[in-house]
Amino acid sequence: MSKSQVTPVHRDLKQDDLIVITGAGGFIGGSLARYFHDLGYTHIRAVDKKPLPNWYQRIVGAENLCLDLSKSEACVRAVENAVEVYNLASDMGGMGYIERFRVECMRSSLINTHMLEASYQAGVNRYFFSSSACIYNTRLQQDPNVRALKESDAYPAMAERGYGWEKLFAEMLCQEYWAERQMKTFIARFHNVYGPNGTWDGGREKAPAAICRKVIQAKDNGTNEIMIWGDGTQTRSFTYIEDCTLGIDRITHVDDLVATPINLGSSELISIDELVSVAEEIGNVRLARKYDLNAPRGVAGRNSDNTLIKQKLGWEPGTPFKEGLAKTYQWIEQQYYARKSGEWVVEDSL
Ligand code: NAD
Repeated sequence: MSKSQVTPVHRDLKQDDLIVITGAGGFIGGSLARYFHDLGYTHIRAVDKKPLPNWYQRIVGAENLCLDLSKSEACVRAVENAVEVYNLASDMGGMGYIERFRVECMRSSLINTHMLEASYQAGVNRYFFSSSACIYNTRLQQDPNVRALKESDAYPAMAERGYGWEKLFAEMLCQEYWAERQMKTFIARFHNVYGPNGTWDGGREKAPAAICRKVIQAKDNGTNEIMIWGDGTQTRSFTYIEDCTLGIDRITHVDDLVATPINLGSSELISIDELVSVAEEIGNVRLARKYDLNAPRGVAGRNSDNTLIKQKLGWEPGTPFKEGLAKTYQWIEQQYYARKSGEWVVEDSL
């Protein structure tokens, strides 16, 4: 797609209007805070439940608040005077986490319910919600050569148990806050976002970060072998973080997309075995592969149909996987050796 066809972003936002980003101590929220800061927005409130030293990124000049947003009073405080709200707070992780901790995942409904109501009461102009490709009907994802999922494939619903159903419920709540109360809500369904400044160890990490870490570890320990969850044939599309933050901004500022869930994902389908090959190539190593067939593996295949996003935005996430993974690998490698040498690095644990 040529640059001239890309719809420009028209933000009805002054440079000093208050932008609130929740989950800002985490991967995508932290990257979004940096994105708006780098665009010159001067009034950013970053909110997360984690203590500040555990945030992946802290933006100079931002107002950083540690609040547990499962409590309604905390949400009221978080959105005070906000013009735009980006809600990325949720209790989540990769397949290993969301299959094991369904109660925790579903308790994010408290965050989403209180954040919507508080934002509505505060009169915010725009509210963004981070949904997930896990809302899609799992029956459509039983083959690695999967047909790409279009937005209408969410219904009839048979979402990922726990995490997926919670996201689907929150999407509907966003839609009703527009339909009944005219608060402009925007909903993106993320497809496997990866990149630097995210979880890479501790149990919540997703496949790209986990595989990079395992390759780095195998090289460092000289074991020359890697354990892969599942049989390696599972396919996914992986979205680079910079495409994700740009997409969030674009989606939230197109009125045509009010209360309309939309895929925000790459359409480059990659199998887990291919992911390992790319990571090996970046690390300049070849490892013996072992497969753990009892480990969580999720659906057999999942890809993003980007017809709607191309039509509405004249754009789709386009960072080639090899390029994005190389940056991710380098960042994780730095973290790995920093930790090994006793330096403080941010880690997530269950
Ligand atoms: P993350 O775990 O790095 O960040 C989420 C943050 O939310 C964490 O820092 C966590 O401390 C915070 N949080 C959890 N409970 C909270 C609470 N009660 N109050 C305040 N903060 C709380 O995850 P991420 O990858 O940055 O994901 C951001 C959003 O995008 C989430 O809603 C997630 O479900 C969604 N999403 C992510 C992906 C992905 O591939 N990363 C895919 C689909 C959807």
